[in-house]
Amino acid sequence: MALPYCSQHERLFIQHQQAWMAFPAALITQIAALYQRFPLPEFAVIETRCDRCEAPEEPRETSDTPQ
Ligand SMILES: [Zn+2]
Repeated sequence: MALPYCSQHERLFIQHQQAWMAFPAALITQIAALYQRFPLPEFAVIETRCDRCEAPEEPRETSDTPQ
């Protein structure tokens, strides 16, 4: 089972719910370390893009607009 995770927004994808949830990076780091200590080939944390990466909250095209 892969755990898709976005470290930029600290969000984890819950596959059986097909939804993203906020998840602290510190916890993901601990889980990844646990998997390295006890190799479980069916588990892996995979860095990926989350829903917020696909839909940024602040549009970039107005960033250079003078106030
Ligand atoms: Zn993201």
